[in-house]
Amino acid sequence: MKFSEVVGQERVKDNIRSMIIQHKVPHAVLLLGSSGVGALPLAIAMAHAMVCPSPVQGEACGACPSCNRSFKYLHPDVHFAFPTTGKDVTSDNLLPVWRNLLMKKHYFTKDDWINEIAADNKQANINKEECFNIRRKLSLKCAEAEVRVMIIWLPEYLGKEGNRLLKILEEPPPDTHFILVAEQSDQILQTIMSRCQLIKVPLLTDEVLDKTLKSIYPSVTDLQLNTVIQLANGSFSEAIALMAEQEDLNAGILIDWMRKCYKGNGLEMSRWVDEIAVWTKEKQKIFIRYSLHFFRGLLVLPVLGQEKSNIPKEMIATSEKLRAILTDKQLEQMTHLADENFAHLERNANPKILFLDLSIKFHQIMQNKFFNI
Ligand SMILES: [Zn+2]
Repeated sequence: MKFSEVVGQERVKDNIRSMIIQHKVPHAVLLLGSSGVGALPLAIAMAHAMVCPSPVQGEACGACPSCNRSFKYLHPDVHFAFPTTGKDVTSDNLLPVWRNLLMKKHYFTKDDWINEIAADNKQANINKEECFNIRRKLSLKCAEAEVRVMIIWLPEYLGKEGNRLLKILEEPPPDTHFILVAEQSDQILQTIMSRCQLIKVPLLTDEVLDKTLKSIYPSVTDLQLNTVIQLANGSFSEAIALMAEQEDLNAGILIDWMRKCYKGNGLEMSRWVDEIAVWTKEKQKIFIRYSLHFFRGLLVLPVLGQEKSNIPKEMIATSEKLRAILTDKQLEQMTHLADENFAHLERNANPKILFLDLSIKFHQIMQNKFFNI
């Protein structure tokens, strides 16, 4: 992966890139940053740049056969060690799962990883066997690059086994670099800390989170963004998890609403409205904005297809069902109405009347009984 895929952290990237350009990468570095700020993606981008034979400005070229292997996590000179669960299970045993997860996303937490590898709640650690493996792998020569890199994710989980790595961290074999990626410095053996050059990875700024989330969720409102950013506390993983939670919630309610509007049972619609009417105005606005985003996606769906129409993934099944029964004209009317009512909500319209009126009109449109627009 490239540094350009890492969210924010421009100063840390510049620092690492200049080390690579000047061939001054220390033999052991420790990237220290809270969960979700991007320390692991930075370590990976760094390792990929180091094994690329033709890096550009300290960045992996992305085009050579070596990068081709690196970017699939198959490069023989980029090694990984990470916490595992179960007796004598090492990173090698779980490498396919690790690769799969990294191919899907670069930002994940320790809990995400544990969920990925174990159904039960076993204690994770980096065990004695792993330490032997690390030493054994590094006793061989580089496979194809001029250097090789051992990334140790969460050395906190080494516990006292970390003592087995002190000597090799102090004096690694030629052309060997360690990149340790940690979250809590007080959980790491002091003797390990002292053998590494520390690179701190700060919390992501609100501006960076704001810009990144807007590009991923084009329908997000400013208020929704502000709430997520405040709760995320500088962590991209946390921000994404919070956004997904909100999207899931909105999706469930929107699907329910569409069903009720289609059927047109007055009692069911008014019960639905009662539930929505007690929400805060901001939450109602977020929901209408989400609905609008969905309707617009539905409109362009036949032309642009699923991927480019920006339909939230939790709405894909519903989008196909609705497109089968609604014409462009009906969808345009619904979009127009939702847009108009968003403006009414901003001007303090009574939400109960507004949502009931909207539900009835949606029903009329869906059943082709609405000709006012
Ligand atoms: Zn390359």
